[in-house]
Amino acid sequence: MQNHWNEGDASRCAGDLALRVHSSRLIGRDKSLVLHGGGNTSVKTEEPDRFGDPRRVLYVKGSGWDLETIEEAGFCPLLLDHLLRLAQLPALSDPAMVEELATHQTRAAAPAASVEAILHALLPFKFVDHTHADAVVSVTNTADGEARIREIYGEDVVVIPYVMPGFDLARAVAQRFPLEATPRTQGMVLMNHGIFSFGATARESYERMVSLVGRAERYLAHHGVKPPALASAEGAPPRQALAELRRDLAREAGFPMLLASRRTEKTLAFARHPDLSRIARYGPATPDHVLRTKRLPLIGRDVAAYAEAYRHYFGEMSQRAREPKTMLDPAPRVVLDAELGLCCAGRTARDAAIVGDIYDRTIDIILAGEALGGYRALPAQDIFDVEYWDLEQAKLRKSGKPAPFAGEVALVTGAASGIGKACVEALLARGAAVVGLDIDAAIEALHARPDFLSLACSRSQYSTSKMSCAGSAR
Ligand SMILES: [Zn+2]
Repeated sequence: MQNHWNEGDASRCAGDLALRVHSSRLIGRDKSLVLHGGGNTSVKTEEPDRFGDPRRVLYVKGSGWDLETIEEAGFCPLLLDHLLRLAQLPALSDPAMVEELATHQTRAAAPAASVEAILHALLPFKFVDHTHADAVVSVTNTADGEARIREIYGEDVVVIPYVMPGFDLARAVAQRFPLEATPRTQGMVLMNHGIFSFGATARESYERMVSLVGRAERYLAHHGVKPPALASAEGAPPRQALAELRRDLAREAGFPMLLASRRTEKTLAFARHPDLSRIARYGPATPDHVLRTKRLPLIGRDVAAYAEAYRHYFGEMSQRAREPKTMLDPAPRVVLDAELGLCCAGRTARDAAIVGDIYDRTIDIILAGEALGGYRALPAQDIFDVEYWDLEQAKLRKSGKPAPFAGEVALVTGAASGIGKACVEALLARGAAVVGLDIDAAIEALHARPDFLSLACSRSQYSTSKMSCAGSAR
């Protein structure tokens, strides 16, 4: 874990919020701390209202923003004193909490606040940082994780047993933190979830995150956790098998999906692990990964059997839920196969790539947990509660129709210029993933984006591809 703080860069930031943006980006660019919108940060400050009266404001990460690229506009300003009063309530439903946050922000156009806003409010420090650091969850997600965390950190962190994120977690922290915090406290570990650091300055909070995570990394190294084993990835991936898998996924999902292959030395070794059916069936490393990866991967290629098991899981878990739930599609997002390695599915190329990034790290966390005596994830019901969270279900109801060609792949010939180029743009705009071919090498420089693959080819390759496309169109 490297410290990237540079006082020269920081000194160019004018004000609390600019510093908050600066150190949030330092955290966001370290993929061992957070991935794709994960984690959140905040700063407490004072700002006059329209009448010039001072008021305390909490700027907390807005949902939909990524720490790596966040800007000042990505933070939601909330009335801090109101949040502190909310934390004293005995209970508050998630929709009611969202309503309170939305009606107590000081800028109407701000993004919706993170659901962890109340938790950030009640930690009595100016800067607060929260990540799902790989090294920390590698330790918490083990059979005796809490004892190990206490061994690593002693009194330097407050330890909170797992509670579902949202108001209940804020409430648990409101009760426990004041009792357990000491003058030495630099952070807080949430079992099976992640870690918080805090401080009086952006630098102090950031450097505490670096140092706390570094201690977990050294603990892992000291306890014999090594980089994952590798297997030879030579030879071409079996393309026919990939195509069949993609077809089966779409059939079970009920809509077309893209499949991204991550056939690497590491993923192949993991997919061939002798104990795979046990170690890959505990669940995700931190609960919000379930929204991307589903609770379990498919092992092998029997998509129909996976879907059947998913329907059974939904039927069983939803019976215990407080409100009626709408089942998501039953197709897997992560596939582990001895020949294919890791394959990731999504409605867009970006979604599939995110699943790949998350599961690639999950492999490391599972293997680290195994080296510490056994990886353990939360019980299925806790994961289901996040997967089928009210707030997520509401997003689902509000989300419009997907783009007309989402999940489809289009091949465009003569794609570097003219009609071909216009077709590429039109297909991308309608949600397709596009392969563009051209004999003009200028194609290589066109559209650097995850859903576009450009291939410069010779005249003979080009005419063969045109013929085969015409053939498949018939
Ligand atoms: Zn979190």
